[in-house]
Amino acid sequence: MTLLRTLAWFAIAAAVMLAAVWLAERPGSVTAEWHGWRLDTSVGVVLITVVVLILLSVALWLLYRWIVGAPGALLDGWGESRRRRGYQALTQGLAAVAAGDGAEAQKNARKAEALLSEPPLTLLLSAQAAQLTGDRDGSRRAFNAMLEDEQMAFLGLRGLIAQSLRDGDQAQALSYAERAFKLRPQTPWVVHSLFDMQAQIGRWREAQETLDAGLRRKVVSQDKGRTLKALLLVERSRATERDGSEADALALAREAFGLAPERIAVSSRLAELQIKAGDGRRALRTLERGWALAPHPDLTALYLKASGENDPLKRVGIVRKLVAQKPDDLESNLALAQAALDAGLWGEARRYLDAAGGTSPSARVCRLMAEVEERAQSDQAKVHEWLARAATAPADRAWRCSACGAQHESWRSVCESCGAFGTLHWRAPGTYGHILPPEVQQTPALQAPLSS
Ligand SMILES: [Zn+2]
Repeated sequence: MTLLRTLAWFAIAAAVMLAAVWLAERPGSVTAEWHGWRLDTSVGVVLITVVVLILLSVALWLLYRWIVGAPGALLDGWGESRRRRGYQALTQGLAAVAAGDGAEAQKNARKAEALLSEPPLTLLLSAQAAQLTGDRDGSRRAFNAMLEDEQMAFLGLRGLIAQSLRDGDQAQALSYAERAFKLRPQTPWVVHSLFDMQAQIGRWREAQETLDAGLRRKVVSQDKGRTLKALLLVERSRATERDGSEADALALAREAFGLAPERIAVSSRLAELQIKAGDGRRALRTLERGWALAPHPDLTALYLKASGENDPLKRVGIVRKLVAQKPDDLESNLALAQAALDAGLWGEARRYLDAAGGTSPSARVCRLMAEVEERAQSDQAKVHEWLARAATAPADRAWRCSACGAQHESWRSVCESCGAFGTLHWRAPGTYGHILPPEVQQTPALQAPLSS
């Protein structure tokens, strides 16, 4: 490149020299007359004057450009520095939020707001800074301002939902969740939060619509959707029964059983209504199928009720029929032990309890053993021994929430402790290793878990 340019300059210089020599060899004069003025000069001088004038014009033009353009360039530089300082404040503010330093975050938020004329960028920082310093009105204002911006509206709604829940304003949280769902029905946490909120206040039908939408968009897995739908149907069946429509209630319970017969709440609900409708034989079949999938003492009680048998000895045989498909299960042995105890068959009761207890009998087994010894009128020392063992025995199966671990006296669809729907399972404590918490609990909520 440089070589080419040098060669070009040589060529131009040579051409100029040749032209000068050519002009010197051919001298001539130029005469100009204008209003009594007369100018006599040589052609060379005229040519030099023309070249000088051209160079002067170019220089003037460049000077003009520099003068006109300078303020703009200056302003540009100033704006650039403002933006840089604004982003710096924004970054420092976000770092302060991460570190939990509310005052520092708020200081930087104000600085960023003043320096950057881009509200969407600074609003989130302002909202989080306000949250950190406990300024509820400030954060609410910032989140509300986000709703104005199309891009930020969803983030604003998320903040408002979390804040409403923390304030205990369920109705407000629900209305924000509905708006968020309209904006982004494909976002998992929106679907799960809305579903849980609707379920918590007993809007079963709406919860089912949300669930269906989640299934369509594959936000909820097929398997989870199936059981949740079944439990919603159980609740709808209860509500329908309360309204006096038993036939509809039965139809809903049957639909639920078709979806999730492995849920105790589902099988017991259907059997209950079948017994109520006078269809004991169907109830027996429902309970046998339910027991084979998930045994529970409630099912035994319903089974005995459906059988209509009152003779204690015959009831032992009936329970034996119920547990036939799962004879080695703890619940099966306990159910048989209880039936044997009621029939006064002490030896049989002890045998079933031994089978149920194994090497470390649970509290329920120990208590039943004590009862057997008491009623068999054997040694009182044995009774006391079993009662003492019950106090330190491993905990029994109970209705435990797989999301928060809370224990409940009886089954309910919504956990009273964490508000999650369909998370209560009949299990011993510490057996959740293979159970995933409900997806809603996995949501990394902005600040607090949404379903708390
Ligand atoms: Zn819970």
